[in-house]
Formats: sequence, structure tokens, C-alpha cells
Amino acid sequence: MNILFMGPPGAGKGTQAERIVDEFRVPHISTGDAFRLAMSQGTPLGVQAKSFVDQGLLVPDEITNGIVRERLEKSDCDNGFLLDGFPRTIAQAEALDDMLASMGKRIDHVINLKVDRDLLLGRLTGRRICKSCGSTYHVLFNPPKVEGVCDKCSGELYQRSDDTEEKVGTRLDEYNNKTAPLLEYYGNKDLLREVDGQQDIDEVTAGISSLLRGQA
Ligand SMILES: [Zn+2]
Repeated sequence: MNILFMGPPGAGKGTQAERIVDEFRVPHISTGDAFRLAMSQGTPLGVQAKSFVDQGLLVPDEITNGIVRERLEKSDCDNGFLLDGFPRTIAQAEALDDMLASMGKRIDHVINLKVDRDLLLGRLTGRRICKSCGSTYHVLFNPPKVEGVCDKCSGELYQRSDDTEEKVGTRLDEYNNKTAPLLEYYGNKDLLREVDGQQDIDEVTAGISSLLRGQA
């Protein structure tokens, strides 16, 4: 089964992906990992990608697609895969369709984890860090015993500037703007499966699993 995973930052995509690959015994392919592997092994595409990354430039689609293709051609993908973090654009989605077709494969399901913006904001803006020892907390999931004070060293807790509501809101907007066309693309192909990512973690996993098994 060839699965594509989508979901905004903070939706729990990583956790769910890990659970689903365990259950369905397919490799979890994140583009980040595929890039790191190609670069560390020094494959021709990896070397090219590294030269762009080292210059702080965006890696061109041609190289990105090639790295994804090399990863998908490995034998551990013979019985399926879960692809995460790719495609990010319609051009990449079309390239993915083409490369899979040339391998006699196709995407079977696109899972999109849906979570309300307010809930994502709460999850993503809740991180607090100790100024003295660097311990991290979360106001909802892992609060300190005393608000604003580190349990370990009594240091003062602060919020990183990247975690402010304004910055997180911008990130979420960017994600939505980028992925909306992709959701439409896969919706038109009748591959898109929406899962409510606001349920508890086990319920989300069960929901995805039954969709993949064709039971929902
Ligand atoms: Zn501390």
C-alpha cells in the first residue's frame, strides 16, 4: 500500500506516521531523511543537493524528485511506503505520479490530518524554555509545577520568538496556502482521505488504520 501523509505543523503527523508504518510494515520515507541519506552517502544527486544546501539555496525540483525516486526504488518499498513531506507543490505531485507510473505503481491513499487552527496555535505556542538550564516545558502538555518557573533549577521560563502566536500563525497560513492546491489535486483523483486529528492519539490512529483497510 502506497500512502501519502499530509497535515499542518502540530497535527501529530510524525507520531501517527510512526504508528501506521509499524502496523502496515512499510517504510516511513520522509524527504528530510532521504536527503540526509543521499548527501551522507555522496550519491551524484546527493552531491548536487549538498552544493545547493551549502549555499543556502533551494534545491531544484529536478534534484529533489530524483532523490525521492531513488529512495522509492529501493527494495524495502516493494510492498508499499508511507511518504511524508513530499510533494509540496503540484509540479512535484505530477512528477511523483509520473515516476510511480514508470515503476508500475501509484499512490493508493492520501491521508490528511485535520486540526482546527486554534488548537494548532495552542499546541505550537505552548512551549516554554528555562533561561538557566534550557529545560523545555509545555503549558498544556508538560506544565511546570509553578507557572513560569523551572522545576529543576527555579530559573525563569521564556517563549522562543519562533513560538509566538504571530510567527506560528504565519507558518500555519503558509502551510495552508501551499497545500490547498495539493488537497484539491488529490481530491479530484478521489485519493484524499480526511481524518479528524483532534481526537485522542489512539482514536486518530484507529481512524487512519480503518480508512487504509477500506473499513471506513
Ligand atoms: Zn531550569
